[in-house]
Amino acid sequence: MQILIIEDEEKVARALKEGLEQQGYAAEVALSGEDGFNRLQKKPFDLLILDLMLPGHSGFDILKNIRHEDMRLPVLILSARDNTDDKVTGLDLGADDYLAKPFAFPELLARIRVLLRRGNHFPDTHLQLADLELDLVDRFVKRSGTRIFLTNREFDLLKYLMENQHQIVSREMLTKDVWQVTNRFSSMDNLIDVHITRLRHKIDEPFDLKLLHTVRGVGFVLSEKEVS
Ligand code: CA
Repeated sequence: MQILIIEDEEKVARALKEGLEQQGYAAEVALSGEDGFNRLQKKPFDLLILDLMLPGHSGFDILKNIRHEDMRLPVLILSARDNTDDKVTGLDLGADDYLAKPFAFPELLARIRVLLRRGNHFPDTHLQLADLELDLVDRFVKRSGTRIFLTNREFDLLKYLMENQHQIVSREMLTKDVWQVTNRFSSMDNLIDVHITRLRHKIDEPFDLKLLHTVRGVGFVLSEKEVS
């Protein structure tokens, strides 16, 4: 579990990071909102701990940007401001929880566990791998924030690969689960290969990081790691 802490007080930030790491979480610190926002755009985090009073952009600004960019990770505000207005504003802007400083570390941990259990907003309708995103409700695909248009079959194929990311998917599995054909004919393999080629052209070709790999003689795998 990757947790990002946006907190400008170094001592507090360091204590949080150490405490979380002792609990087995991976934690990163950003000492400003700008730094934090950049980190969020570079890689996915499972949870954000957000201070409100920050130099430059406030925690509220960061929160607005996060939700505006459709980042769906749970956000826990950790702030010295302990008044109802701030709590209401924070929650209305899309924070999932609000804990006032000073706080008891076990309480913070308990709240983190609750948020991680709940997962991100709409966990069942949104699939992600690196900067590739797929929304099952609106049936859109984005890479690096840019929308990619797929045919229905290409979408179903990508969805299946996303659901099985980092695992090898055989042509047999695709025949059965995506095309829903029980008997695999040799022409099926060609059909699958044509769709894989088109999909690769759309989701991978314009980008440096390749996600859709062919495993010779076996099938395909969707992963940000190179497959040998
Ligand atoms: Ca602060």
